[in-house]
This record gives sequence, C-alpha cells and structure tokens, in this order.
Amino acid sequence: MIIPGSPEMKSQLEVVFDLEISAAMFKETAQQYSCVDRVIPEAEWMKRAPYVHAINKLKKEKDAVILAHNYMTPDIYHGVADIVGDSLQLAIEATRVKESVIIQGGVHFMAETSKILSPEKTVIIPDSRAGCSLAESITAKDIAGMREKYPGAPVVSYVNTTAEVKAASDICCTSSNAVDVINAMDSELVIMTPDGHLAQNVAKQTSKKIVYWEGACEVHIEFKADELREYRKYEPDAVIIAHPECPTDVVDESDFSGSTSGMIDFVRKNKPEKVLLITECSMGSNIADEVPEVNFLGPCNLCPHMQRITLEKILWSLHTGNEEVVVREELAAKARLAVQRMIDLK
Ligand code: SF4
Repeated sequence: MIIPGSPEMKSQLEVVFDLEISAAMFKETAQQYSCVDRVIPEAEWMKRAPYVHAINKLKKEKDAVILAHNYMTPDIYHGVADIVGDSLQLAIEATRVKESVIIQGGVHFMAETSKILSPEKTVIIPDSRAGCSLAESITAKDIAGMREKYPGAPVVSYVNTTAEVKAASDICCTSSNAVDVINAMDSELVIMTPDGHLAQNVAKQTSKKIVYWEGACEVHIEFKADELREYRKYEPDAVIIAHPECPTDVVDESDFSGSTSGMIDFVRKNKPEKVLLITECSMGSNIADEVPEVNFLGPCNLCPHMQRITLEKILWSLHTGNEEVVVREELAAKARLAVQRMIDLK
C-alpha cells in the first residue's frame, strides 16, 4: 500500500501524468493563478500548475467534485475546488452535488459528514490521517457519561466529531449556528461537546445554562489575549476578527467573532484597511486577492491536519480512489438524524 505523500506516490504520479514544469501548463492555469498571485510567487505556481491542470481534467473524467474547507491552502482553494465553505456549508453542499464522487478537501470528520449525508456517493479523503484535536477528544462513551451526570439534558455536538459521537448526540451544531441550536433546545440545561471554548463563548450569548466537554482546537487555543493587546498597541487601527474556538478572553479582545465563512463575509463587507484574522493562516491567503485593499497582519497558526491535504494527494486520490470513507449504515442513520436536525433548523 502506497502512503499518500510518499516518494513512491510521487514517482507513480509522474509515470501516469504530465507533471513537467512548462510555460504551456502555466498558461493553461492562468485563470486560477490570477486568484492567488498575491500569495503564491510565479516560480512556485510553475511547480503546482501541472497538478492543477491534471486534477481539473481527471475530476471530470471521474465524475468527481472537490469540496474544500476555508482552511485549505490557496492552490487547492482557488486551483481545483468546486465548492468552498465552512463545515456547515460543505455538509449541505455534499447533499446537493450531482457528481457521484466527492473528494473532501478537509479533515476526516468532514469527509465522514459528507458520507453520512450522501450515503449513495463515493466519498474520498486524500489523506485519512488528517484528523482534528476536537474530534479526537471525545467518544460515544464520554457522551453517555455526560448524559448520566446531567439526566434529561440534550446533547449538542459540534460537527467536529466522529460519526460515533454524532450518533450519540441529539443534534449537531457548527460555529456559525451554535447559538441558534442551543436556543432551540427544549431544556434550560444543555450539554455541549466537544469544544469547551466554543461552549463558553456561546454561553455568553444565551440564557441557557451550558455544561460542556473540555476539548479544544489545538490551533485556536494557541492564541493569547496578551498577544492581541500587544498588537493593538502597535496597530491601533487594525480590526481583530477571532474564531469562536479561541479562548473567551481572546474573543473578548476581538472586534468580531464568527465562523470561517462569517469571518470572510465580514472582511468582504467591511474591507477594513488592516485585519488580524485570529484563525488558521490559509484563510487570509484565500481571500487576499478578492480584497486587495485589505492588509492582513499576523498572527495566524497553521492546522497540521488541514495541511496534510495537498494537490499531490488530491491527484493521487482521484487516480486511485483512495481512501474511500466508510460509515456503517446503522451508525450513519443515527448520525444523520443529528446532522439533519441541525440543517432543518436553518
Ligand atoms: S483547525 Fe482545529 S478544529 Fe479545525 S481541523 Fe484543525 S484542529 Fe480541528
């Protein structure tokens, strides 16, 4: 079995596809490059262009669609993705696409969610090792333990969870709809899992009492309120936008907090001269060309799991059909209920 990203994978790809650097290939991908030329130097794009070209050709032959999360790198986001968005948008779009194959540009729980919602489709993740510290922080047994501790309280689980955890929950939420989902619960006490920071940020916007699991996103937990205060001293005009997976004091220090799509919409609409996007680094790069008047300042942190998905691995997954995501139908049916309840609330 060839490991995605290994030298063997690369040499096999080179045998099958024309991956030579050439001016012709650069020309073929000029439209995609025009969306990333502020963040990817020409010399670098020369190397990526053959992959972009090969992927776009092959996905049509394979009847595949590429869904890409907002944290995918700009070459994927602008070069080969058919649909981009946050977890909620991708989950919904997965049910609407006509293609029979979904290539998930994102981490494993996202691919599982697509499979849960579209069981008749083939869902492929280019690197199944692309995990998530939140999804890995909790099991279905832990959910049962929370239910025992807080009898009768409904369980709202973030979509950043495994199929098993979704199946054990009453309803899912994303960072864009978490407050609405919590408010819709027919109980004053709500269990929220697995992100303790998201839960505490939501608790400030609802009258419900929230008890939560203490999971954390390893990317957003790294941001510190002190660091933002320092930035404010040197860049007093900068607008700070933080993801709600950040600790509460970081969110309190920000001017706006929202899901990845909420953050992008805020920048598109307000076009602040200077912005600190307190989230994964790829976000700023992905919208840099669209809003050239906005200056994206640091800091940002990379998600090592999202970074596992590369153009090379996407081409390999299209070529080989690996790795297909499988969710037992009995489990998928229960998990689907939790995800569908969330979608129906929209
Ligand atoms: S950014 Fe955080 S929540 Fe998103 S996949 Fe990476 S570890 Fe998980």
